[in-house]
Amino acid sequence: MAKVVHAACPLNCWDSCGFKVTIEDGRVTKVEGDDEHPITKGKICGRGRMLEKRINSGERILHPLKKINGEFQQISWEQALDEIAIKLTEYKEQYGTTSVLHSHDYANGGLLINLDQRFFNCYGGVTEVTGSICWGSGIEAQSWDFGDAYSHAPGDLMNSKSIVVWGRNVARTNMHLYEELKKAQKSGAKLYVIDPIYNATAKIADQYISIKPGFDGFLAAGIIKEIVRLELEDREFIHNYSLGFEDLLSTLEKVSLTEISQFTEIPEETITQLARIYAERPVATMFGLGMQRYANGGNTIRLIDALVAVSGNVGIPGGGANFANRQVGQSFQIDTLTLSERKTASRSFTMMKQAEGILTAKDPEIKMAFVTCGNPLTQLPDTNKARTAFSSLETLVVMDQFMTDTAELADYILPVTSAFETEDVYYASMYHHFVNHGPKLVEPRGEAKTDEEIWRGLANRLGFGEDFAYTREEWLNLGLSSLKDYGITIEHLRENKFAELPVDKIPWQNRKFKTPSKKYEFTSGLGKEAGFTGEITLKMPAESTWSNQSLAEKYPYSLLSIHPLRSNHSQHFHVLGTVPEVKVEVSEDIANEKGLENGDIVKVWNNRGNIHGKISILKMAHPKTINIDEGMWRRFGGSVNQLTSDRESDNKLGSTVFDCLVNIEKV
Ligand code: SF4
Repeated sequence: MAKVVHAACPLNCWDSCGFKVTIEDGRVTKVEGDDEHPITKGKICGRGRMLEKRINSGERILHPLKKINGEFQQISWEQALDEIAIKLTEYKEQYGTTSVLHSHDYANGGLLINLDQRFFNCYGGVTEVTGSICWGSGIEAQSWDFGDAYSHAPGDLMNSKSIVVWGRNVARTNMHLYEELKKAQKSGAKLYVIDPIYNATAKIADQYISIKPGFDGFLAAGIIKEIVRLELEDREFIHNYSLGFEDLLSTLEKVSLTEISQFTEIPEETITQLARIYAERPVATMFGLGMQRYANGGNTIRLIDALVAVSGNVGIPGGGANFANRQVGQSFQIDTLTLSERKTASRSFTMMKQAEGILTAKDPEIKMAFVTCGNPLTQLPDTNKARTAFSSLETLVVMDQFMTDTAELADYILPVTSAFETEDVYYASMYHHFVNHGPKLVEPRGEAKTDEEIWRGLANRLGFGEDFAYTREEWLNLGLSSLKDYGITIEHLRENKFAELPVDKIPWQNRKFKTPSKKYEFTSGLGKEAGFTGEITLKMPAESTWSNQSLAEKYPYSLLSIHPLRSNHSQHFHVLGTVPEVKVEVSEDIANEKGLENGDIVKVWNNRGNIHGKISILKMAHPKTINIDEGMWRRFGGSVNQLTSDRESDNKLGSTVFDCLVNIEKV
């Protein structure tokens, strides 16, 4: 007998959708959208629907595995946890706890996923990874400017006169924002899309502005220059609520509008037009993540933030510098869950430099790594280096559901449950501010265990079991304790499926910023504290004609690696139903220059690696632009990150995976 119950999407995605899941004979058979969800309203994407395939897949790892003489063999949980606990004890005694690396990413948006940090804190503190391959530069940049990265609530777009979607294909990655854009257009808002690719979002725009990859900060600088020249700046905001505007003006004097037009490959008149648009408030700016994955990524976001501020679009209905919505994650009692005070030793590598860190760390060397919620062998920049690094470890433990590129290298694989096999609550700090309940719908397949059960099993063996002696319900109420006064408890969520979190729907409306000066900081105090000048600088990408001419002669094309349409990063390629292949999308000028046609097989390469794939010609893309979607597994042709650099961005906390020049030839 089939029954339909509510659930939530666990994937790392802007939309954090509500689900209706069909269960038949103890098995999930269908995943659909919950039309009662206030934001996602019954619509979900293929990645969400494919969770049914993921849970039921014949490729699921259902038992603990140990690699013996190069082959994986099934072992019992007792053996797996005993042996891993012995290794953790030995490494701690011989080398100290930081000889263990915890490598994690964001494969699952559940609240209790954070218990991994509690485990490693109670162990004594391991080597951790900081920053983010995905959005690290932008988060840091907005922290410097505003004090944090907050977005307006989705419905606020109805107050906007203009909406600028800057480097973000919401039709692919944020489908409910796409619907909101169309709604706002119907009620009179104008939509502008700035992007190197003429994507599905650009197609519905009132105006598409094609930009040279990596030069978005220069465009923002040009628009600010024009706003100031035309005396359209918001003097009241600048005078009363900001710090460092004069520094910004001196920086902008270093570049002319003509130069900006050359760098961005955007006509001067368009830059002037954008200045007038920004000055006619309210303008909502919806940032994408790609443009901050450059060596100049932090400054790019700071320049666009500065544009939003100078034009008077901060803290007003219909405005905003909408990059991320960290108020959502901050609503939960994460500290209580993670017990950071238990940590007595610490060391960190940035996420980008974890392979380098593994290869070069001394006192102590990295002996063991624990991978949770991630697939670094596919997702880290410079995956060839990542492979060398992770292969060099004495012990690699991977918690996963599938034999990913990373799991293949492991010494132990611990099979974890899927989202539908355990209860949790789900949220995303990117877009809307609702938390969704995800009940346990079916029994775990095989011997899969929840992350929490695995941590408890290890904690018991290592002598800090009392810190894990909680039921799942107790954990959830602990994480939700900060919301109790708002009536949001696990009981409430079980009954109501979702709840609206108490966050500001129009951030910074009171003009009280979270910066050291409590003002909007064009020159950042936090930046100075972090060892930088704090001033915005006009930086080029590391790999461009303007910054490295000889490299650009050898590798003349800009390589982007955008989110795939049908897979959440690397999570779905093996359940697509067809064998996936690497698609190399090229702008029309490259196809003409190299004599390429759709379907041709090409090699794309640079000094870090090479990849083969099938050509698809991108109509109206910015000249000299190539895209290969990120996330592809080795067995299907390999990750685009074989070509990307592990260089850190200007504020050190972001990746530079889009800052990548390549060459291409037909094979
Ligand atoms: S991946 Fe995103 S859009 Fe798709 S179902 Fe999940 S939350 Fe919704």
